[in-house]
Amino acid sequence: MKKIIVIFIIFFIALFGLPIIFTKSNFNVGEKRIEENIIENVNIEETKEIKENNEQPYLYSQYSNIELLHSTTGEKEKLPLDTYLLGVVSAEMPAQFEQEALNAQAVVARTYTIYSIKNNNNKHEEADICDNPSCCQAWISKDDRLAKWDNNNKEEFWKKIEISVNTTKGKIITYDGEPIDAFFHSNSGGITEIPVNVWGGTDFPYLQSVQTSGEDAYAQYSSEVILSKEEFIKKIKEKYKNFEIDFNNKDCIKVVEYTNSNRVKTIQVGNIKISGIEFRNIVGLKSANFKVQTNENEIFFEVQGYGHGVGMSQTGADSMAKNGASYEEIIKHFYTGVELINL
Ligand SMILES: [Zn+2]
Repeated sequence: MKKIIVIFIIFFIALFGLPIIFTKSNFNVGEKRIEENIIENVNIEETKEIKENNEQPYLYSQYSNIELLHSTTGEKEKLPLDTYLLGVVSAEMPAQFEQEALNAQAVVARTYTIYSIKNNNNKHEEADICDNPSCCQAWISKDDRLAKWDNNNKEEFWKKIEISVNTTKGKIITYDGEPIDAFFHSNSGGITEIPVNVWGGTDFPYLQSVQTSGEDAYAQYSSEVILSKEEFIKKIKEKYKNFEIDFNNKDCIKVVEYTNSNRVKTIQVGNIKISGIEFRNIVGLKSANFKVQTNENEIFFEVQGYGHGVGMSQTGADSMAKNGASYEEIIKHFYTGVELINL
């Protein structure tokens, strides 16, 4: 009788118990999968990139995503840091440039971003950074970028941008262990400028004046501006209403002082004395490294370099890369005494 009861119990368990166990087990697995999917969706970009690069993820989890302010629309967009950097590198540097120059730009862009997040609190209220190049860094979406490139080299160019961000993943430039304020510009005219000569204030030990050869091979190296005397007077009067000038005086436009990097520091123009930077902005010159000539009707400016001249010169970086420099060498050339670290 006992035997029959035992057999009955085993039969009962087999009939009802096991399906319950399996069902519960499957339910648990399904639940876990759902949880994993949620986590995977949140970190989908990072997970994909980490797997592709087989590298460590960013240790500072707060830098995984950034809040980008679109300056024209006022809209904010949350982007994974590396996705944001693709848009910065492709907006800031011509993709025709050498791979190592693009890699240097990616590190500079990442450093600038981290520096901004750490130091520019409340500059854009809830956003970390904006896409206005004269405020923060330029940025362009992938779709807009591809639409502007020629069909023949679209894929090659985008691949180069991706390589620049992925091969430098997590790397930033530091001085004394802190991210640097990584200024950059288009063409230094052969020698970079120190920040105090551009914005005043104090200097940074890592932003020294350095020379780079080969920048004269680029279109950004030299430019000209020709203004009629009337146009010239009008431009200055927009800012200085009491401006007067006597073109019969041979010293009516005279450089008073040059910076150590050969840019105009102070200039006397008629009855006003202003900085070379302000003069450059008023007249619309590409840099403060210029020479002036006048003739009967016109004023002629011969300009060297493009941009403020502080930090990395992009064409200088490309020139160095053409001569075999790595992105680390390029960065250490333009930023004095710095180290590259992994975030
Ligand atoms: Zn901004």
